[in-house]
Amino acid sequence: MSQAYTRRRTNKHRRDIIPLIALLMLSLSAGCTQSDTNQTTTPEQSPQAQEATSAPSPQSEKIKVVTTFLPMYMFTKAVAGNTADVEILVPPGTEVHEYQSTPENVRAIATANVLVKNGLGLEEFLDNTIKNAQNPKLSVIDTSKGIQPLNEISPVEKTSQKEEEHEDAEGNPHVWLDPVLAKQQVANIRDGLIAADSANKATYEANAAAYIKQLDSLNSEFQQTLQKNPSCTFITFHDAFPYLAKRYNLKQVAVVEIPEDQLAPADIQNAVKAVKKYKVKALFSEPGVDNKLLTSLSKDLNLTLRPLDSLETGNTEPQHYFKAMRDNLQTLETACK
Ligand SMILES: [Zn+2]
Repeated sequence: MSQAYTRRRTNKHRRDIIPLIALLMLSLSAGCTQSDTNQTTTPEQSPQAQEATSAPSPQSEKIKVVTTFLPMYMFTKAVAGNTADVEILVPPGTEVHEYQSTPENVRAIATANVLVKNGLGLEEFLDNTIKNAQNPKLSVIDTSKGIQPLNEISPVEKTSQKEEEHEDAEGNPHVWLDPVLAKQQVANIRDGLIAADSANKATYEANAAAYIKQLDSLNSEFQQTLQKNPSCTFITFHDAFPYLAKRYNLKQVAVVEIPEDQLAPADIQNAVKAVKKYKVKALFSEPGVDNKLLTSLSKDLNLTLRPLDSLETGNTEPQHYFKAMRDNLQTLETACK
């Protein structure tokens, strides 16, 4: 009684709202009545019915595969599809070269069947992490197995007097940026997954073949596009593209060890001196990198600074590899003209 009274009193002030509420209440009660009287139970209304229809799958035991960083995840996901559970250790957006593993990484490896790595000394964090995981059943796929590593194919200019680093002790690790070597990595992943999970051999073979076919087309596109400008010399600030450069007759000069903070004029001078030794067509940084030294260098050298993606971070979707590589191709084509 009092509710009705209140409503009537406020009615004046809610002229627009009240009819709407009334309408809503009406339609709601109509809906209830309908389902009550009809006694219908559609699948989405009844969880029990839904359970009954989804019989337990005979292949519910998926193998668990952990991958180290972005390209390994993309390639493995491409080969495994949804047949295996695929995880990534180095979160996309995090630097792989100096990555420190987490307790979560140790736990992931401890419960995995397979671990997929790039190899060639890239994943420096890995040996200890595997040791700590104490998983005797773990099989490790080294995707660079069978690939001949490059050491000093491209000149590497060091602009600071820091002591030599030993990070390239096993050769340059950036093999995934050459589509032809990427094919080898995908094939190694395929063979490793088949060895660990032979029941799904046909799936792994078909998926790998499809991805390798795409890598073949990508390789043809690179060949056809870049042969128009042979021996194009470019500067990078991350020694990531020697395999790509070798494959397509480009010349990479890597200027490394540039300070990212506490920039001194001498650093710029050193870098300019290093770069001027070469007839350079292009200057490449990485997507998302905003470095003052690179910006002033590009001004001093009168070269446009463009982003070239090393694919160490980014979108994890397997098809992203092709998108990023085609963006790289377009960048190279424009810069090398
Ligand atoms: Zn790198």
